[in-house]
Amino acid sequence: MLEVKKISKSYGNHLAVDQLSFKVEKGEIFGLLGENGAGKTTTFRIIMGLLEANSGTVTLDGKKIDYSVTDRIGFVTEERSLLTKLTVKDQIVYYGILKGMPEEEILKRLDTWLEKFGITEYKNRKIKELSKGNQQKIQFIAGVINTPELLILDEPFSGLDPINVKMFQEAILEMKERGCSIIFSSHQMEHIELFCEKLVILVHGQVVLGGYLKDIKKEYRKKNIFIQGDISVEKIKKVSGVVDVISNAEEYQVKIESDEVVDSVFQAVSKSKIRKFVVEEASLNEIFIEKVGESYDK
Ligand code: ATP
Repeated sequence: MLEVKKISKSYGNHLAVDQLSFKVEKGEIFGLLGENGAGKTTTFRIIMGLLEANSGTVTLDGKKIDYSVTDRIGFVTEERSLLTKLTVKDQIVYYGILKGMPEEEILKRLDTWLEKFGITEYKNRKIKELSKGNQQKIQFIAGVINTPELLILDEPFSGLDPINVKMFQEAILEMKERGCSIIFSSHQMEHIELFCEKLVILVHGQVVLGGYLKDIKKEYRKKNIFIQGDISVEKIKKVSGVVDVISNAEEYQVKIESDEVVDSVFQAVSKSKIRKFVVEEASLNEIFIEKVGESYDK
């Protein structure tokens, strides 16, 4: 288990991370969400022991993170940290050896990952000849080649097309199933929402929202009803407990105070022709807007 306890970091007068605490259990996926400059990379660097916090501690299975545990950590950054003149094979062998692995084992695992990502034919190609998305896959393979116990992914999905996002998601879930603890950062709520059990949202280095996603959603009682049909918006707006009605392209989104309002809305549209009536939890972005006052889907 990774435990981050009250870490703070200042650059000169600028407080980049302020008393941040969280735990990531074995096999858990944790999301670190925050806009540019919120303090995500600083947090990752502190976790990896590349940067010293001004205060607070970071432990992996109760042990302070130093060179003795770095072999158990995998890190994938947004910036390309690959040596682009090397071939895919040579690059991964280089990383694997740095992590103390025998070459034979590295090559075996490399073949499995290349096959999984559908890029076996690039094994002996120079990295600079690969597309951005494929370079990102190689970067991911470099981060997981040692089957780490803790995997840190800094913006793993940035610049990926939807098919590659799905491929990465599957690879991350596979790592989770192997018992790896995973932390990833993102600007996008929908990525966090898709498969993080636990999360922290940072604003200027401070936690503004954190905990298990299902608890956050449960505590936030407001819901949405999505309706398709010939309904009277004015009539629904008059129902007590209805906060707002938004007309989207194909359907109406009725924002309600709580579950108890569903019946009354249903009554209000019961005489209309309805093609869809679905009650859904609020999205993480809606919760965030209410808590912090601005949208994250920028
Ligand atoms: P992004 O999403 O843009 O990568 P981030 O959430 O990772 O942002 P950090 O890179 O951790 O944010 O930066 C947090 C704050 O600390 C920012 O205001 C940044 O300008 C500042 N900062 C980061 N590194 C340094 C540094 N080496 N010296 C001075 N200030 C820094």
